[in-house]
Amino acid sequence: MTGGYTIEQPLNIDNLIPTYKHPVVQELGRLFEKAGKRLYLVGGTVRDALLGQFHEDLDFATDARPGEAVEIIKPWADNLWLVGVRFGTVGLSKGHLKIEITTLRSEVYRGKTRHPEVKFGTDIYYDLSRRDFTINAMALEFPKGQLIDPFNGQSDLVNRMIRTPLSPEQSFSDDPLRMMRAIRFVSTMGMHLSPEVEEAIIKYKGELARVSSERIRDEFSKILIGREPTKALRLLLSTSLSDKFVPELSKLKITQDPDFHHKDVLEHTLLVVERVERDLVLRLAALFHDVGKPDTKEIIEGKVTFYNHDTLGAYITRKRLRALKYPKTIVEDVAKLIYLHMRVYTYRMGWTDKAVRKYIRDTGDLRAKLNALIRADCTTKNPRKMRQSLRVLDELEERIIQLEEIEETAKIRPPIDGHEVMKYLGIGQGPLVGEALHLLLEAKLAGEIETKEEAFELIDRWAKEKGIKG
Ligand code: ATP
Ligand code: MG
Repeated sequence: MTGGYTIEQPLNIDNLIPTYKHPVVQELGRLFEKAGKRLYLVGGTVRDALLGQFHEDLDFATDARPGEAVEIIKPWADNLWLVGVRFGTVGLSKGHLKIEITTLRSEVYRGKTRHPEVKFGTDIYYDLSRRDFTINAMALEFPKGQLIDPFNGQSDLVNRMIRTPLSPEQSFSDDPLRMMRAIRFVSTMGMHLSPEVEEAIIKYKGELARVSSERIRDEFSKILIGREPTKALRLLLSTSLSDKFVPELSKLKITQDPDFHHKDVLEHTLLVVERVERDLVLRLAALFHDVGKPDTKEIIEGKVTFYNHDTLGAYITRKRLRALKYPKTIVEDVAKLIYLHMRVYTYRMGWTDKAVRKYIRDTGDLRAKLNALIRADCTTKNPRKMRQSLRVLDELEERIIQLEEIEETAKIRPPIDGHEVMKYLGIGQGPLVGEALHLLLEAKLAGEIETKEEAFELIDRWAKEKGIKG
C-alpha cells in the first residue's frame, strides 16, 4: 500500500455510536421494530460514521415496501417527501435530520436503457452486493447495532482502497458512472484504486457514453473541489476516461522547448488546479485556463508563443462546459476568467485611467477570483520572473484602489453649488465662494450636513461670523 493514507490502527467500531445512538435514529429503529420490519443504516452514512463523521443526512434500507414504510413513519416524521416512492425511496425530516429510507433491491435490470427497472427484495446481502464500492457496501442492523460487512469494506476503508463488491467489469457495465465515482473518492477521500478497478476503467471507459451529462458533471465537480484533484485528474488521464467527457485535457500534454524552461502545459495546469482554493469556478478556470494553447502554439523567432490562447481558451471552455450542462452562471464566470487571465500582463506597457476603468468593468465581481487565478498561474521556478509577474498584479490592484478612491470622492458634492452660494449671499465670483464651497465639502464629508436646508444654515452661520451678511 502506498503510504500517506494508510491508517495504522484499525477503525474504531465505537465510532458508529454517535450515529447509531442518536435519539432520532433510535426512535426510528423502534418504529420499524414494532412494525416487524428490518431497518439498516447503509452506504456512505455507515462509511462516514466509521470514520468518525456524523452526518445530518442519513440513508437507511428496509425490507418494508415503500407504502408500508410511509405508513410507519407518517405519524412521526416532521415532513415527508414522496417523489421517490416509485423507485423505492421515502424521504423525511425529523428535527435536524434528513432521512432517506429505501426498500431493499433485488434485481436491477439496467441494460442499455437509461432508466433501470427496480425490483424490491428482502435480502440485505444482495442489496449490498449491488452497491458501488466495498467501502459503501456496509450496513448497520437495528435493533442490535450489528455491522454487516460482507465485502470487507472496513479493511478497504483502513487501507484507503476502492474495490467493487463483485467484479468491476460487471459493476461498471451495470452503471458506468461508477468509474467516475471511483475516481471521485480518490480526490475527496484520498482513496486508491485497486489494480482491478483501474484496469476495468480502461476497458469500459467507452461505456460512459451511456451516462447522462448531468450525472458525469456532478461527479466531475466533486473531483475538482476535492482535496486531491491532481491525483484524480492524473487517473482520469491515464485511464483515458477524461477523453470521454473532457477530451481537451489530454491534448495539453504538448511538450515545450526545454531551452525556455517551459513545463509541459498539462503539468503546469495540474499545479495551478492544486494551487487555487476549493471553489468550483476557480478550479474549473484553473483546469481550462490553457486549453487554448495547443491550437495557438507557434514558434516565432525561435521562441514558443501562444498568442490569443486566452480568447480561444474561453471559447473552447464555454463549449465544453455547456455540453456538460453546467449552469449558465458557472459557464460564463469560468469563460470570463480564462478570457481575462492574460490581460494584466499588458499593464506593464502602461494603462490609461480609461484602460483601468475598462478592466474594473470587465472583471466586475470576479476580480478577486481572477487575481487568485493569476497568482496560481505563476508557477515559474525563476524567482525574478515570479517577482516581476506578481509585482504587475500588485501595482494594478493599487492603481484600481486609488482610482476608485478618487472617483468615490469625486462623487461627493456639497448639497448646494457655487451659484446657489452666490445667490444666497448676494455676492459675485471670488475667493469667498471657494472658501464657502470648501467649508460645505468638509461638512458633508464629516457627515454634518446632508440637505440643502442644512447647507444654507451652515453658510448663514459662517457668513455671520465673517460679517458678510447683515
Ligand atoms: P456523497 O453523499 O458524499 O456524495 P455517497 O457515497 O453517500 O457519497 P450517495 O450518492 O449519497 O453517495 O449514495 C449513497 C449510497 O448509495 C452510496 O454510498 C452507495 O452505497 C450507493 N450508491 C450511490 N450511487 C451508486 C451507484 N451509481 N452504483 C451503486 N451504488 C451507488
Ligand atoms: Mg450520501
